[in-house]
Amino acid sequence: MEVASLLASAKAAYDIAKGINALKNEVDRNQAVSKILEVLIAVQTEALSLQEKHSLLTTKIQELEKECDRLKDWQAEKERYELKEIAPGLFARIEKGLVDNLQSAHKFCATCFEQNSKALLQQEKIQVGTRLSLTCHRCKSTVIFDSYLKNSDQSEQKLDSIAENIIKRFFDTGRDLSANDIAPAVSVSIGVGQYYFDILIDRKFIVQSTGSDPPEYSLTAKGRAYVIESMNS
Ligand SMILES: [Zn+2]
Repeated sequence: MEVASLLASAKAAYDIAKGINALKNEVDRNQAVSKILEVLIAVQTEALSLQEKHSLLTTKIQELEKECDRLKDWQAEKERYELKEIAPGLFARIEKGLVDNLQSAHKFCATCFEQNSKALLQQEKIQVGTRLSLTCHRCKSTVIFDSYLKNSDQSEQKLDSIAENIIKRFFDTGRDLSANDIAPAVSVSIGVGQYYFDILIDRKFIVQSTGSDPPEYSLTAKGRAYVIESMNS
């Protein structure tokens, strides 16, 4: 649009200039010249504004290219961090495979991480050192908690309600059970039941009984202890 009007103005100036020779008197010629100057000034103004727009767009493109590169780098960077429970119910992003304890590890705000930003959580001790707080200065969130999970605590986490129902079932019936026995009793599909069996086996709460087909499992001493402890808590 602007380029078109700029060309139109330039053509108008050209047309006037072409007609100058045909003009007989001084006054007409002077008028034509001043008209040409007027149009040329308009052309110049228009050209400057176009140039300004062009440079704004160039800057914008450069910014977008930079942002695009940043997001590509971020994608790779992101892979290096995992979402980890650092205190009961509290999650942060931590570098994968970090063996250091959670207290000293660099922890990044999980919320900001989802917004493609790596914001370090600042730890403070509050109330005369009895509790801890972590603050994200980017999203201004603060969480207060008693202590970090120890690395070994993570495998000692509380089971979810379905897994607990399953393990209680073992406890209550006091006999060997298969996933097929249990899944309908706790209202889950066989596949989901098997998934929970895998978790319970992994935690050594149940163990496969020898020679059973389909495989049946029994509660271990550790599993029994868990049920008792979870009833008390
Ligand atoms: Zn944050």
